[in-house]
Amino acid sequence: MNIAISMAGRKRVAVIGGGAVGVSTALWLQRDGCEVTIIDPNEGLGEGASFGNAGCLNPSSIIPMSMPGNLSKVPGWLLDPLGPLTIRWQYLPKIAPWLMRFVAAGTEPRVRKQASALKGLLHDTVGLYQELAEPDASQKFIKRNGHLIVYRTQAEYKNDRLGWQLRREHGISFDVLDSHELHQLEPALSRDVNVGIFFPHNGYTTNPNALVRALGENFLHNGGVIKQGTAKDFIFQDDKLQGVMVNDTIMQTDAAVVCAGARSLPFVRTCGDNVMLDTERGYHIMIKNPEAVLNRSIMDATGKFVATPMEFGLRLAGTVEFAGLDAAPDWRRARILTKLGRALFPSLLADYPEERLSLWMGFRPSMPDSLPVIGTSRRSQDVVYAFGHGHVGLAAGARTGLLAADLVMQRTAHIDISAFSPRRF
Ligand SMILES: Cc1cc2nc3c(=O)[nH]c(=O)nc-3n(C[C@H](O)[C@H](O)[C@H](O)COP(=O)(O)OP(=O)(O)OC[C@H]3O[C@@H](n4cnc5c(N)ncnc54)[C@H](O)[C@@H]3O)c2cc1C
Repeated sequence: MNIAISMAGRKRVAVIGGGAVGVSTALWLQRDGCEVTIIDPNEGLGEGASFGNAGCLNPSSIIPMSMPGNLSKVPGWLLDPLGPLTIRWQYLPKIAPWLMRFVAAGTEPRVRKQASALKGLLHDTVGLYQELAEPDASQKFIKRNGHLIVYRTQAEYKNDRLGWQLRREHGISFDVLDSHELHQLEPALSRDVNVGIFFPHNGYTTNPNALVRALGENFLHNGGVIKQGTAKDFIFQDDKLQGVMVNDTIMQTDAAVVCAGARSLPFVRTCGDNVMLDTERGYHIMIKNPEAVLNRSIMDATGKFVATPMEFGLRLAGTVEFAGLDAAPDWRRARILTKLGRALFPSLLADYPEERLSLWMGFRPSMPDSLPVIGTSRRSQDVVYAFGHGHVGLAAGARTGLLAADLVMQRTAHIDISAFSPRRF
């Protein structure tokens, strides 16, 4: 074993990217006694996908995106202007290989393996964040009120049979509520909604960006360094990492963890690996002082979006848009969410003045098999990958950080990570 150390005798680690995954990684590494620097081009942490997500901390989100039977639904989704999926046709040639892998990932045996891997990664997400955050921040930003998935009809619910079976097999507890119980729990819900699945142990954050920032404050307080800049390349000597090129200067380091979300690919290529990372762009719209009051995050299984009561209003978040990292946002995708929101919560208004709305688009870092990449690089074990969490990167961030710290410290990972291998394709 050859662990390089700084002059002060502590291992220096550069964490590339200050989202939910990066900041969690940095905090766990500090607990291992490392000298940690987070590198991020933004002025504050949590400005990437971790900024505007739906805030769900759901250990129950073990069901991958590609499921048996989904392919037949795609044409309907693409043709529906309110549908959950869109592809910019110019991007189709680029995304085609990813989409083929995505479809191939959706067989029942593969889905079973993916669900099992996600179960390990998402387990106790709320508890881990509570451990990483200061009690004040934890109390302010993390709620443990459970989570609801709602359906219009029993038939729709039964259509998702495999997902429910897998959750049961993995010991995830939930209650199936009838219409009466459901509306008692969430009176703002439309009477068209008849089935609700309640996960009593799930949680959510009232402000994902503020949670990441609070974790960043904690990191600074423990002696961490945040360096504003863009990491561009690695400097190696043989198989040892010597430094990270940040803007135009070399930052010396003994190890690096790539947590750059949807922008992680250049680092992987530099290290001789090749993974199928792309982005599923998603949108949110926030309504200030909403007419509908919610007690927890609610996923609409029909509209495929999540409504979460947040610090500054009601957030409606979701949709998948394949258009890559460079195309301008299509804000119609965000505005669609108000229509879908009103169908779920009839007390919301049909039209809002712009000052009551805020819109956001972000880049989910997505792999076709819905599993992140967590492992060491081919080039050197000093470079660790921790990205590609798609729809569950907030929830999975805390445990991913713990796993990344295991790898940096060259310990056996505390759960089986073979399914997340960078060389699994
Ligand atoms: C609409 C929507 C709703 C969602 N809802 C949920 C949800 O409810 N629950 C959930 O668990 N997940 C959800 N997600 C997914 C989740 O937001 C992401 O999986 C997660 O935020 C990814 O975190 P990350 O730290 O890997 O990436 P990011 O948060 O994107 O952070 C990556 C960071 O890397 C930095 N970076 C990029 N390039 C460089 C570079 N060269 N050098 C240095 N730094 C760099 C970026 O500036 C950024 O800060 C949702 C996503 C969307 C879009």
